Amino acid sequence: MPFSKLGLSEPILNAVTELGYTTPTPIQAEAIPLALKGKNLIAAAQTGSGKTASFVLPILELLSGGETQRKKRARALILTPTRELAVQVCKSIGLYGKHLNLNAIAIYGGVDYAPQKQALIDGVDIVVATPGRLRDLYTQRAIHFDETTLLVLDEADRMLDMGFIEDITKIIDTLPEQRQNLLFSATLSRQVRELAKETVSDAIQLSFNKESEGKPNIEQWITTVDKDKKSALLSHLINDQNWPQALIFIETKHGAAKLVSQLEKRGIEAECIHSGRTQAIREQILADFKSGKIKYLISTGISARGIDIDELPLVINYDLPFPADEYVHRIGRTGRAGSSGEAISLVSKDDFKNLCMIESRLDHLLERRVIEGFSPRKEVPVSVLNYVPKSQRDEDGKRIKSEKSAKPGVVRSKSKSSIKPSNRSGNGKSTEAAESNTQAGFNPWTDSKR
Ligand code: AMP
Repeated sequence: MPFSKLGLSEPILNAVTELGYTTPTPIQAEAIPLALKGKNLIAAAQTGSGKTASFVLPILELLSGGETQRKKRARALILTPTRELAVQVCKSIGLYGKHLNLNAIAIYGGVDYAPQKQALIDGVDIVVATPGRLRDLYTQRAIHFDETTLLVLDEADRMLDMGFIEDITKIIDTLPEQRQNLLFSATLSRQVRELAKETVSDAIQLSFNKESEGKPNIEQWITTVDKDKKSALLSHLINDQNWPQALIFIETKHGAAKLVSQLEKRGIEAECIHSGRTQAIREQILADFKSGKIKYLISTGISARGIDIDELPLVINYDLPFPADEYVHRIGRTGRAGSSGEAISLVSKDDFKNLCMIESRLDHLLERRVIEGFSPRKEVPVSVLNYVPKSQRDEDGKRIKSEKSAKPGVVRSKSKSSIKPSNRSGNGKSTEAAESNTQAGFNPWTDSKR
């Protein structure tokens, strides 16, 4: 189905065409017509599926007829887990709405309140916000929600993982009852369903996490290695493979900084982003990575949420993340919108528990390859595929959660010089603590048109 059949008007269709989009992604084809009819939606869709346009385009269409009439009001509210994602969504609004006369701002923490308050004074059509700062601004009476008729919860699972449930429910309690709700989540876990039940009544449920439904092709493989050899292995792979660019995930900010200096000692230039770096530095590094100036970017999971780079070829998990959903989010950075990508994980014995959870979540074992010279002294056993972590077991040892996992596409790899396929034969570390979640007004109509 072409974009022109979705019910969108000329200015939006023109913007989409100018961005080079020819066909809607599956989630866009399903969600946009329903959202335009005012339906409530719960959509299971991952990063890379084109989910942002699937809620931004209908919102722009629905709001394009009017404008904010009163001070400190917002007509649509989009909640996101991180400031990077808030800025990213705001930029998309700017791009998709470039021929419309609507305004939007991104609101997030870790920066001054004053510019955000100032930006809200005249009223805004769309506020994209992280929950903590938005709630603060509401408490300070800098924003009122009595004109808010549209609510989007973007990456709801992630917001819950980051502990935003109380902020979200408090914000929702203050919204008008008559409103349209759109919830997007990589997974529809029990907690997400509970949130949905309370906030999105009569919703139509859509799921786009099946391989057959246009998921990107991501070649995933792991290699086992001793923990103390990981940086040497990574350097070896970078030199051997000559990758044009890679996003490398690591669990802690301390680990990220250390890895940069370990790579440096081996002559490899890399940069890192994490919550310990200032917003201005993080934005500069992201811009440099997007422009290709930085080839290797090391990031904690949360910091990478807003990275949206077309055709990022490679994602490396230096550590395996916990929970398993995080793995799916991470590999979603590559193979976006139909292009192919590669996701490599360096797995040591310490990562075994997380490996079990990830492979159970995927419902298949990941291909293992041996890198010559890096076979581990401490072997990593083959995963138990029905592994259920203690916290998710009932008294009989059965899984409490019943949700089935998404299955990212797997493509068998081409063999590469020193990388050989081997015979098929965790620790529940938490990711970096939730970062401060709240920034100055960002106007996509000025910032993104530069
Ligand atoms: P998202 O899943 O919203 O983060 O989108 C992932 C990437 O896909 C972004 O870079 C979008 O610009 C791009 N994208 C979204 N929709 C389409 C489409 N219909 N055709 C081509 N690219 C798209």
